[in-house]
Amino acid sequence: MRILYVEDEEFLAEAVIHVLKKNKIMVDWAADGNEGLDLALKPNYDVIVLDIMLPGLSGLEILSTIRNRGVKTPVIMLSALNEVEDKIKGLENGADDYLAKPFKTAELIARLNALTRRPPIQELEVLEFSDLEFDVKNRTLNGIELTETEAEILKMLIKNPELAVSKEQILAHVWGADSEHDENYVEVYMSYLRKKLRGLNSKVAVKTIRGLGYKLVEE
Ligand code: CA
Repeated sequence: MRILYVEDEEFLAEAVIHVLKKNKIMVDWAADGNEGLDLALKPNYDVIVLDIMLPGLSGLEILSTIRNRGVKTPVIMLSALNEVEDKIKGLENGADDYLAKPFKTAELIARLNALTRRPPIQELEVLEFSDLEFDVKNRTLNGIELTETEAEILKMLIKNPELAVSKEQILAHVWGADSEHDENYVEVYMSYLRKKLRGLNSKVAVKTIRGLGYKLVEE
């Protein structure tokens, strides 16, 4: 599991991250709202943990921005016990869970596990893009079977139609941030995926956006 943790209190963040890592949870940490938003828009995370009071942008602003941009990653909001209104706002704005500060890291881990075990409500079984229908569960694209890796890559591309997905993001998502695979792997699998798209006579192609990554386009 890989999470984004947006928290400006450094000592708290360090302590929490230490325990999360021991529990094999990979953590990217952002210490302010702007950096948090930049990272939250990337399709890298299984869960985003958002503190509410942050320098730059508040956790609530980050939450509503990412939901408006179509990011469906589960979000756990953090805030002080007495900020009941924030909790309500957070849940109204699309947070999936809420944890009052101070919290035990074990409690956070339990919530993270619960959120990643639960199939995301928004996860559609069939993802569509132009003439493509991708059946996530059966791993078939317009009836033809994809390998697990091809399916994971296609899922990232199809879920982020507006954004270019970088090689680095694909590498981290498919093989894990600590994997020894390099970006050539991404190129190889992308060529397999392109071949399958051509075989389907689809209007859709994977376009390489120089310096940024890949994106699905209708041609
Ligand atoms: Ca804070």
